[in-house]
Amino acid sequence: MPSFVNPEKCDGCKALDKTACQHICPNDLMLLNKETEKAYNREPEMCWECYNCVKICQPQAVEMRGYADFVPMGATVTPMRSTDSIMWTVKFRNGMLKRFKFPIRTTPEGKAEPNGGFDEGDGDLNSHQLCTGPVSHGLDSLTVFKK
Ligand code: SF4
Ligand code: SF4
Repeated sequence: MPSFVNPEKCDGCKALDKTACQHICPNDLMLLNKETEKAYNREPEMCWECYNCVKICQPQAVEMRGYADFVPMGATVTPMRSTDSIMWTVKFRNGMLKRFKFPIRTTPEGKAEPNGGFDEGDGDLNSHQLCTGPVSHGLDSLTVFKK
């Protein structure tokens, strides 16, 4: 189910040049209505439900209708992010609330090593080698199959 913005909660990221949801959407779907200062998902059918906009929005203005297997029909699911965990609040249609908290990192904030400490490789986009490979995959060299 695609994301949608609750205009009562959206503050337009306080008129930043680019809002947080615009910045984070890999599909470039979020837009800010400059008149109302509210964001909206301009093409919900193109949303691949990655939840990035949901998680980055500080006032929790972006909502999702979650999949029925974990959020029954009529319920809403809202995340709240902290520096080391994320808490999902599920509100069921009868008003019952349930909260689930999960850790989101294994290192203190700002201490993650880029690429896990592995070299980025040769940067050749035509290469079959993946970034940080083959060393990060536990190999000395890339296996190449001859035609
Ligand atoms: Fe509104 Fe949230 Fe998007 Fe900011 S990130 S513009 S508050 S929906
Ligand atoms: Fe974009 Fe992902 Fe939000 Fe959909 S859920 S609007 S793809 S950031």
